[in-house]
Amino acid sequence: MFGRSVCYLFIPLVFTLMGGCNQPDAISLSKTTAVEPAKPSTLEQSPFPLPSSILTEVNKPSDSPEDVEPSTASYEEPAIDIAFAGDVMFDWSIRDTLQKHGVHYPFEQVKHEILKADFAFMNLETAITDRTDKFPGQLFYIKSDANTLDGIKVAGFDLVSIANNHVLDYKVEGLMDTMKALDEKGIPYVGAGVDAHAAYSSKEVIIKGKKFRFLAFSRFLPSEEWYARENRPGMASGYQLDKVISTITEQKEDADYLIVYLHWGVEKTNTPAKYQKEYVKQMVEAGADSIVGSHPHWLQGFEYYNEKPVAYSLGNFLFPSYVRGHDAETGILHMTFKGKEIKMSFSPYFIKNDQIIKVDEQAKVDRYHYLMSISYDVAIDEAGNIVNQRNPK
Ligand SMILES: [Zn+2]
Repeated sequence: MFGRSVCYLFIPLVFTLMGGCNQPDAISLSKTTAVEPAKPSTLEQSPFPLPSSILTEVNKPSDSPEDVEPSTASYEEPAIDIAFAGDVMFDWSIRDTLQKHGVHYPFEQVKHEILKADFAFMNLETAITDRTDKFPGQLFYIKSDANTLDGIKVAGFDLVSIANNHVLDYKVEGLMDTMKALDEKGIPYVGAGVDAHAAYSSKEVIIKGKKFRFLAFSRFLPSEEWYARENRPGMASGYQLDKVISTITEQKEDADYLIVYLHWGVEKTNTPAKYQKEYVKQMVEAGADSIVGSHPHWLQGFEYYNEKPVAYSLGNFLFPSYVRGHDAETGILHMTFKGKEIKMSFSPYFIKNDQIIKVDEQAKVDRYHYLMSISYDVAIDEAGNIVNQRNPK
C-alpha cells in the first residue's frame, strides 16, 4: 500500500489466556484467515508469484554447475528492503509545530528514504484520542490527534506497532479510539487489539512473493491491566516469555520471514538489559528472523545472533523539541532479506525542533563509530552497512 506492491492478510492467532496453561496439545490451531480488502497497488506485480512452498523447491542450491541455465532454470532470490524506525508521537511542542507547518513536516527530510524501501514499520508511542480520563500512575501521558496519522502515511510507513507503554494512557477507551483512527486511515497495526486473540495476531504481508509475518509485544507496561485478555482489549504482553515463544513458533510455521518488534529495555541506556539477551536467544531459536526494539529513547547496539539481525533499540524517531544528545539521535534501520541472508544497514538522522533532519557526513561517521562501540561483534562501514563479524563469510 501507499504505492508499494504488497498485499495484506490478517491471520488471527489461536491464543490461551495470559498466564494460563499453554500446552500445545490443548490448543486447536485453526488459523482462520480473514482477508482484508485488497489494497490498490501502483507498482508491478511480483515477478515470482509462486506459492512459497514451490519457491522453496525452486531455490534449492544446485549441486552441479551444469544444472544452471540462465534465464530459465536459474532463480535469483529477490532482495527485499524493510525500513524500521523507533518511537513516534505528536504531543506537546509537536502540536504547535504541526499547526504551523502541517502534519507532513516532521518527516519531510526522511520520507524519501522510507518510501524507497519495500515496506516500513515503526512504533506509534501515543494514544490517538481526545479523551481526558487518564490511567492512574503514569509519569507522562501522551495523546495525538487522528490527523497526525496522515503524516505517517505520507512518510511511507506501512505498519505500526501499538504495543508500548503509552497507547493505554487514556485507558481502554483511548486504545479503542486509537485502533478506530488507524482503521479509518487504513494504517495496519500489530501488538494490541480488542481481545487477546487480536492482540497476539501477526500481520501477514506478501512482499515480492515472500510471506512476511510481523509481531509486536511490549515488555514494558505500567500494569497487568494493560494486558489483552480473552474478553478485554489490551496489549500483547512481552512479560511472559513462554507466550512470546509459542506465538513466534506458531506464526513462523508457514512464513518465509518472521519479524518481531519489541518495546523493551531500560530508558536512557545504550546497552540491553540481561533479560533481553536471553529473549533474543530464545526468540531466534523459536524462529524469529529479525528482532527490532525500542523504548529506551536512546539508540542501542546491533548484533547478529545465529546470523539473525537484532537491533536492540532504535531510540526516538519523532519526539518533542526538548530532546537533546542521545535522545535526539535517531535513524532508519534497513534490513535486506535475500534468501537466507539478512543484512542490516543504518542511516543516521537527528531530531531537531520537531523534525527528523539529515546529518552531515562527519556526523554520520561519528555515529557509526559510536554505534559500533556499543554493538556486539559487528563492523559498521562508512556506508552504514552493519557487517557480522561473528560468522564472517
Ligand atoms: Zn516506551
